[in-house]
Amino acid sequence: MASVNAADWCIICDKPNTSVCNRCKSSRYCSKECQHADWPAHKLLCSAFSKFDIGTRPSKDHVRAISFPFNKERPEIVWLHCPWHDDDDDDFPCQFPASAPIVGKDAFGRTLPVQYNPFLQRKLTDTIHILHRDAALIDGSLPNRSVAAVTATQPYQTLDWRGPILAYGMVGLGVDQVACKDIDMNDFRHVADHLVACGMESKPDIRRNVGEKVKGVRINCLGDQKMFNKPVFEAVEVPSTDPIFTEHETSDIAKRIELPIFTRRCRPYAKWANDEDNKIFQGASPFNNQPATFLHLCCDPNAKFNARTGSMGWGWAPMQWQNGAGSAIIVRQDKKPLFPLHAEALSRYCQYDARAILAHSMGEYAPEEPMQKKTALAMVCRPAFIISWYKLRETKRKEGEDTDAPYPYYDVDFD
Ligand SMILES: [Zn+2]
Ligand SMILES: [Zn+2]
Repeated sequence: MASVNAADWCIICDKPNTSVCNRCKSSRYCSKECQHADWPAHKLLCSAFSKFDIGTRPSKDHVRAISFPFNKERPEIVWLHCPWHDDDDDDFPCQFPASAPIVGKDAFGRTLPVQYNPFLQRKLTDTIHILHRDAALIDGSLPNRSVAAVTATQPYQTLDWRGPILAYGMVGLGVDQVACKDIDMNDFRHVADHLVACGMESKPDIRRNVGEKVKGVRINCLGDQKMFNKPVFEAVEVPSTDPIFTEHETSDIAKRIELPIFTRRCRPYAKWANDEDNKIFQGASPFNNQPATFLHLCCDPNAKFNARTGSMGWGWAPMQWQNGAGSAIIVRQDKKPLFPLHAEALSRYCQYDARAILAHSMGEYAPEEPMQKKTALAMVCRPAFIISWYKLRETKRKEGEDTDAPYPYYDVDFD
């Protein structure tokens, strides 16, 4: 099963991409706005990249790389020779760029491996190495003008980059990458961000502004579904000032499967709240919201009934999340986008998978020999949810429904 990778994301923000730069056919964006935001840096290399003929590769040991000459106004695309080395101490061969033509024969090259973009707060799928002269600051190297052209596109103080600099890619994220790979214009964005971010004390936060909206999901109760014709799982934009970020409840199960969320109940609409006997509810309460109820099943082995907090103890949703819950909003605690399909998968996992496990631990199946709570807890975990996620997506696909939500753990290690 293919996981979502960085190639599915806008290179500027957290949204899935929908378009590619018309000229270089490499950088991917979600919108014109994001393409516009990338342009000041992108334009320094887009044309050179699109003219660079991949058919001129001198040998299969050459990869496409980005050179930042110290004495030029913009970076360049180059072929980098990366011969395979069979180190005597090592059992496996690896590719090692011939850096002398770039950094000079008199210097050692030092590389900074880049595996994370702090502006995007996202892991890359492969490693980019930024190679520079080891002693560039003290060996008389001149300030690098092509790097300066790139870093000037962002309003931050940056390191004093000196001497020639080279960026190249290697396959994978570990510490022992083996093979070099062609760099592309999305990588160039990561390099541009890294050249800036390296000089900063703290992690930049420029793309998470105060006016930001967080993509969350509203789980509509029966009243909202029937009266206003709303879907059960509705995409909503939650302002970052919403009380959900300060006063909220959470889901134990979501935390266990490593997708921690905040939840809050919505105010009921008078239109259905005062019309409980309406036939369209078929005898059920318009406040009924089973997906939200199951989301709140308690996974604290020591929880006891507590009338003040509403706790009903292990395996139960708190009182306020029982039949009268009404509609609810949920968001990811890390403020990354939560899609309706994520919320649906999570709720279904709670209702059908986790609930059965908890029920067994509560003696519903074998009263004399209930499953131990710690065994039950171990079974409510990320790998189990992932299976449930893929199953739901497959079902949706067969039904011809829209499944373009990304893999829920898109920004962390893939399983
Ligand atoms: Zn974007
Ligand atoms: Zn381009």
